[in-house]
Amino acid sequence: MDHVEIDKQHCWHPFTQQEMWMSPEHQPIMIESGEGVWLCDAEGKKYIDGNSSIWTNIHGHHHPVIDQAIKNQLEKISHSSYLGFGHPLASELASRLVSFFPESDLQRVFFSDDGSTAVECAMKMALQYRIQNGEPKRTEFIAFIGGYHGDTLGAASLGGVEAFFARFRKFGLTVHFVRDLDELRNFQSLQKIAAVIIEPLVQGVNQIHVWEQGMLEELRNFTEEQAIHLILDEVMTGFGRTGTMFACQQENVIPDFLCLAKGLTAGYLPMAATLVTETIYKGFLGAPERTFYYGHSYTANPLGCAAALASLDVFEQEKTLTGVKEKVAYLAYKLSHLANECKHVKEVRRCGLVAGIELLTDENGVGMKVCEAARTYQLLTRPILNTIVLMPPLSITRSEIDIMVAAVEQAISDVLD
Ligand SMILES: *Cc1c(COP(=O)(O)O)cnc(C)c1O
Repeated sequence: MDHVEIDKQHCWHPFTQQEMWMSPEHQPIMIESGEGVWLCDAEGKKYIDGNSSIWTNIHGHHHPVIDQAIKNQLEKISHSSYLGFGHPLASELASRLVSFFPESDLQRVFFSDDGSTAVECAMKMALQYRIQNGEPKRTEFIAFIGGYHGDTLGAASLGGVEAFFARFRKFGLTVHFVRDLDELRNFQSLQKIAAVIIEPLVQGVNQIHVWEQGMLEELRNFTEEQAIHLILDEVMTGFGRTGTMFACQQENVIPDFLCLAKGLTAGYLPMAATLVTETIYKGFLGAPERTFYYGHSYTANPLGCAAALASLDVFEQEKTLTGVKEKVAYLAYKLSHLANECKHVKEVRRCGLVAGIELLTDENGVGMKVCEAARTYQLLTRPILNTIVLMPPLSITRSEIDIMVAAVEQAISDVLD
């Protein structure tokens, strides 16, 4: 039996209606290898990885520096327990991560496995901190409508996308949803709130919804005035996607909790980090019952740390962020051209190298049809409803941006003209 048949018999894919997946007409692409921004399927066809393998990849696939760092660590050990022991690479990674926030209070790192657990961990810390530091009534959260923070039950209760999360609300925590800063300001029971969570600068899953400039800074000021903790979910925006290493740096905001995952290992291995302030951290010191009883088996996995450290090295060696500035400008130029020239494009929303091209149509499923058509023109990406998402690895070149945007344009024309 071939791998596609086995997949259809035994595998279950995320966010996928398996009824459709399993249908005989559906021929899923099996990815076998990758090189730079290119993915190669089982039939030898090559495609640009237009969404960075679901928003994770940073420097391209099969990068020699990151590959070598993982191989070097493999020669030593693949995993050892972080419960009761440390290891050198985790120490190094923690200090490298907090070094992006010098002279701030954000100096402590708690490792976990993925975006959801990074958020989960921030939530539990936020609640436990209040309970044991004299504010046991602050037990609720505020999140933004349309926000996405992961799929585990805690993180899911912060999710503001109704289709995914509404049915689970009654099992979760008390979370209030606001549309914007004005709604937050008018919220009546701020004294019950432990923390506010936001995807800074841009909500990814909400069809690439870009916040107004200055919003994040205002939010930070407001949360400080109200003594509410601010959790920044930079799981998607972290590691250069928005043009700076972290999105919060664009508005000089230092949060109380900073959640990192997807790009942390440059898209190589599952790993996450929740950065917290020393103020929060100190609220857990003292008696045994003040301990943060939380952890996962693979916490601070050494292979993941090796990949993450190598990725930070590559940022320096390749001057990635300097290059990104130019690429952002070029992508903006190409997409504004597309928005102006193509009558089927309703709007292009963009923040750094994160872009959403919303199609002008009332029909469901057009976005998916366009993405399927784009495969013919060497582009793999996924839509969110009828918004085509482009979020290429930061290593993409100008000519690859040309191929990517041309593929979208052609595909739109094939489906809608
Ligand atoms: C992807 C994502 C998550 C969840 O991360 P996983 O690694 O999929 O658990 C959380 N927050 C944001 C903003 C994301 O984009």
